[in-house]
Amino acid sequence: MRYSVFDILKQGLSGNKGWQPLWRSPAPKAEYDLVIIGGGGHGLATAYYLAKNHGMRNIAVLEKGYIGGGNVGRNTTIVRADYGQKGNSAFYSHSLKLWNGLSQELNYNVMFSPRGLLELCHSDGQMESYNRRANMILARGDQAEMLDRAAVAEYAPYLAFENERFPIRGGLLQRSAGTARHDAVVWGYARGADALGVDILQNCEVTGFDIEGGTVRGVETSRGPIKSAKVAICVAGRSSEVAAMAGMRLPIESHVLQAFVTEGLKPFINTVINFGVGHFYISQSDKGGLVFGGDLDGYNSYAQRGSLGQVEHVAEAGMSMIPALGKARMLRSWGGIMDMSMDGSPIIDKTHIGGLYFNGGWCYGGFKAIPASGSAYAQLLATGELPSYAGAYRLSRFETGDLINEEGTGARPGLH
Ligand SMILES: Cc1cc2nc3c(=O)[nH]c(=O)nc-3n(C[C@H](O)[C@H](O)[C@H](O)COP(=O)(O)OP(=O)(O)OC[C@H]3O[C@@H](n4cnc5c(N)ncnc54)[C@H](O)[C@@H]3O)c2cc1C
Repeated sequence: MRYSVFDILKQGLSGNKGWQPLWRSPAPKAEYDLVIIGGGGHGLATAYYLAKNHGMRNIAVLEKGYIGGGNVGRNTTIVRADYGQKGNSAFYSHSLKLWNGLSQELNYNVMFSPRGLLELCHSDGQMESYNRRANMILARGDQAEMLDRAAVAEYAPYLAFENERFPIRGGLLQRSAGTARHDAVVWGYARGADALGVDILQNCEVTGFDIEGGTVRGVETSRGPIKSAKVAICVAGRSSEVAAMAGMRLPIESHVLQAFVTEGLKPFINTVINFGVGHFYISQSDKGGLVFGGDLDGYNSYAQRGSLGQVEHVAEAGMSMIPALGKARMLRSWGGIMDMSMDGSPIIDKTHIGGLYFNGGWCYGGFKAIPASGSAYAQLLATGELPSYAGAYRLSRFETGDLINEEGTGARPGLH
């Protein structure tokens, strides 16, 4: 069913009885050409691009819970392309371009809103380093501009400019960055993949691998064994656990990250703001809630909730940046499990086991990566080659030491 304004009118006039489910709930087949483990943003996008760009239709996405129940439905929805490292910069630049046309591509409104993202600077040194980053972003053809203190005050007058500890000197603004509706991204890719024949199997947990002579033959699941010559791991925070079932040890640690939302408020913050000295980021959802988050929890767990200590830490950072936040009531907080790689950058690659592929290590930045990750992983799975914009994401970099150390986004294992 293709959505259009005429459809909305037609359905409205006929009591909205003709809408169809966005995806089917088929029974698992005994065998597929390819199975993807994980029905998060990356898994569903990979399935969509495999079917759309490479004509592969006999594929299944195996999700242990419900699609969107993982990080893709739990994040703060920030989409940006202001990465500085070679490898990351080309990848995220490509992803932002895909975000711009995603609603049209999927015929589903993912509510991508390029409302701008401001990274605050609090010292001369930081201004220098952000200037350098802005120039790098401009040199590769993306959008960036440096604001001085007066321009920041005009752009976001509610910030704490006189904070003695963290005075604001200026900021790096990327007007083309913004937010998107996370659930809609899940539903849009699921609907698109399903329409192209992909089976989305919910409540289907992968519990083991069938590996013979160093080659994968299929997976064991809570709904029975499924044969497949190609298996694509795409399980974000569960990467280490799932890879361990295949006897692999990854350069990844799992950590909890929390997010928070306040009661609905009148329009207050019309952009995304990142605190330049602490780890705090905030935007306002279309429903009016202020959505924000901070640093990783110190207590590792696979439960999708965080600890109280971090609630206090994040609230403090928020108050240092926007004192008026103290008047808003916090409505909810929740947690997700981050697959933190040792250099803060992701992995999309084959493994040493024939037919077994791996996508993960997205840390706390994988939402914005979904379109580019899905299309790159699909190309690797279909052709055996990664596209050039994702060519740096090989597992072998952890052997050769050729790391993509994106400052401030890595797991910093020494600290935990
Ligand atoms: C609080 C928070 C804030 C964030 N903020 C941002 C942000 O602002 N911008 C940004 O770019 N990124 C952000 N992120 C990171 C981003 O959400 C993740 O990097 C990204 O969503 C991970 O990829 P995914 O969507 O595929 O993961 P997930 O949605 O977690 O998908 C993985 C799926 O695999 C399934 N699975 C696991 N094990 C199995 C198994 N054995 N069998 C079958 N299925 C299995 C899980 O149930 C899950 O549904 C944030 C994350 C959190 C938690």
